[in-house]
Amino acid sequence: MYYRTVPTRSRGRGSGCSGRLLMAAAIAAFSLFSYFSSRQDNPVTGETQYIDITPEQEIALGLEAAPQMAAEFGGLDENAQDQALVDEVGNRIVQSSPAGNSPYQFDFHLLDDDQTINAFALPGGQIFITRALYDKLTTEGELAGVLGHEIGHVIARHSAEHIAKAKLTEGLTGAAVIAAYDPNNPSSASRAQIAVLIGQLITLRYGREDELESDYLGVCFINDSGYDPNELVGVMQVLASAQTGDRPPEFFSTHPNPENRVARIQNAIQNINACP
Ligand SMILES: [Zn+2]
Repeated sequence: MYYRTVPTRSRGRGSGCSGRLLMAAAIAAFSLFSYFSSRQDNPVTGETQYIDITPEQEIALGLEAAPQMAAEFGGLDENAQDQALVDEVGNRIVQSSPAGNSPYQFDFHLLDDDQTINAFALPGGQIFITRALYDKLTTEGELAGVLGHEIGHVIARHSAEHIAKAKLTEGLTGAAVIAAYDPNNPSSASRAQIAVLIGQLITLRYGREDELESDYLGVCFINDSGYDPNELVGVMQVLASAQTGDRPPEFFSTHPNPENRVARIQNAIQNINACP
């Protein structure tokens, strides 16, 4: 009944507005089309993903974001011995797991932040662990557990999935920027917009499913490299006991802590033969 009372003139005026709506709908349709046409299967996890940036673009974005990530958490740690252990354990996992056959370039960094208990992965293979988390770990295998989990985020391309979803939300603008992004000539895309994207990567919070998948891949990868996969359970216990007052370790704030996480890890260990 209401619509019948709207005068014809108003309808006429509204056509400009519906023109804009049509344009917005076309942009949204284009975004949806490019999102769903980016469907591909992850070679390691077998999972169907919607990603339209290349591994080369992931590597370049990660390399560009790495200095900013390091600067946020105290810069690189100066203890060469500890950094060497982080490199050794990280590279051992890469070399003996499917991560070694991926196009990614892994690089492991110990950061000089003794307050923030956390570890991070940027797309393409830049991986970070803070001094505060490193010092809490009690065995080399637990270090392997943390790094294996972060390698899992890279291999499962969680950041790239987030970028694809962000492009879907932002429509053409974001898509145009990424489409124009040339890893060999980073200045070819708008610097300001790439800077925004890098800021998003640095503060990115993965979802619960991403965490469970990375735990699973972490179990598989450290087992491949000869570490006891139960060490990842040890990491969760270390983190849980690092809670001071009502403030959980930052690892749990950037890595949402799903219920039954330990149980899921134990289940993965029992079914270790199903690993990729
Ligand atoms: Zn994680």
